[in-house]
Amino acid sequence: MNFNYFIPTRILFGPGTLNKLGSVPLPGRKALIVISAGKSMRQNGYLDRLTGLLEKQNVSYVIFDKILPNPIKSHVMEAAELAKKEGCDFIIGLGGGSSIDSAKSIAVMVKNPGDYWDYIGSGSGKGKPVTNGALPVVAITTTAGTGTEADPWTVITKEETHEKIGFGNDHTFPVLSIVDPELMLTVPPDLTAYQGFDAFFHSVEGYIATVANPVSDALALKSIELIAKYLPAAIKDGNNMEARTQVALANTLAGMVESLSSCTSEHSMEHALSAFHPNIAHGAGLIMLSEAYHSFFMDKSPERYADMARAMGETIEGLLPDEKAAAFIKALLKLQKACGVDSLKMSAYGIKPEEIPTLAENAWHAMGGLFNVDPYTLSMEETVQVMNKAYK
Ligand SMILES: [Zn+2]
Repeated sequence: MNFNYFIPTRILFGPGTLNKLGSVPLPGRKALIVISAGKSMRQNGYLDRLTGLLEKQNVSYVIFDKILPNPIKSHVMEAAELAKKEGCDFIIGLGGGSSIDSAKSIAVMVKNPGDYWDYIGSGSGKGKPVTNGALPVVAITTTAGTGTEADPWTVITKEETHEKIGFGNDHTFPVLSIVDPELMLTVPPDLTAYQGFDAFFHSVEGYIATVANPVSDALALKSIELIAKYLPAAIKDGNNMEARTQVALANTLAGMVESLSSCTSEHSMEHALSAFHPNIAHGAGLIMLSEAYHSFFMDKSPERYADMARAMGETIEGLLPDEKAAAFIKALLKLQKACGVDSLKMSAYGIKPEEIPTLAENAWHAMGGLFNVDPYTLSMEETVQVMNKAYK
C-alpha cells in the first residue's frame, strides 16, 4: 500500500462561491481570461461578473475567446503569445473543460520555449521536460464533467495528425478553483448528461485502474454513488440546485481520482473517436463505448465491479461473484436509460464500421499509456474487438 498524495489546489466549493473571487488572494496582477468561442459566457453574464470581481481587486485582464469544444494546439500557441505580449502573470480558465484545459496548456507555453507538442509525452510529441514550470492557473468551472478543476490534466488536439492527447504535471494543477453550482444551472440536459457520465467514468476507470489506492478508492466510490443518485434529477430539472450541487461535488471528487489514480484505455478509445469525429462530445463517446468495454473487463476485476454496483444502489448480497460484477453493467444501463442517453450510436455520428481498426490504432498511438493501467492488458486485436462490439 504505497501511494503518493498530491493535490495542491485550493478549491472553493458551493453555490455562490464565484463572489469570493472579489476578496480571495489572487496569484497575479494581470490575467489572461480564457473562454470558449461560444456565446454562453457572455450571454449568461458570467464574463461580466468575473471581470467585475477582478476590477474590485484592481487586477487587469485580457480576454482570449476562441476556444473550441475540442480545443486545438494552434489556439494554445496563439493565446500564449498574446499573454506574453500583454505581460499577463496568471491565466484564468472560465467555462467547461475545454477552456480550463486550454488555460493550463497556455500557462505552460507562456513560460517555456518552442511548440506545445515538444512537451507532449506520447504520439508524435517529443516528450521534452517542462523546465520552466507554468504560470499560475485559476479555474472557474461552469460544467460538471471533466474534473479539471481538481487535477493537473489538459487534453488538446493536434488537428493535422488527429492526436487528442492528455498532458499534465505538478505545475498544471490550478492554484485556485471555484466550483459554483449556480453557474451550472444553464447547462442544457444533453450536455449535463454527457458531462455527468464523463465524471462517472473518471471515477469508474480510476477505481479499476491498477494504480488505484485507498484514497482514490474512497473518492471514486462516493463520486459513483452521487452520480447514480443525482444525475437523472439534474438532467430532468436543470434548476434543481440540490442535484446540481451533488453532481458538481461528484465531478470534483472524480477530478481528485484522476489526480491520484488514472483513467484507463476507455479514455484512449474515446479520444480516438472524438479526434476523428470532433462532433462527438467526449462524454457521449464514453457512453457509446462503455457497455462493451466494461463487459470485457468485469471478470478481470470482479470484486471492484461488485463494489461499484453496490455504490450505484444495486442489491448484490446473495449473488454469485460473477453476477455481482455483472450487476454493474445492469446499473450502468439503467443509469443511461434514466439519463436519456441509452440510444446513442456511433453510426449516427458518421463513424463507419471499417474505420474501427484505424481508431483502435490511434487509441494506442496517442494514449497508449492508459492501456498499461487496465486490469488486463488488451492486445490490438482485443481493442478492435471491444470497439466493434460497441459499434451500433
Ligand atoms: Zn474524460
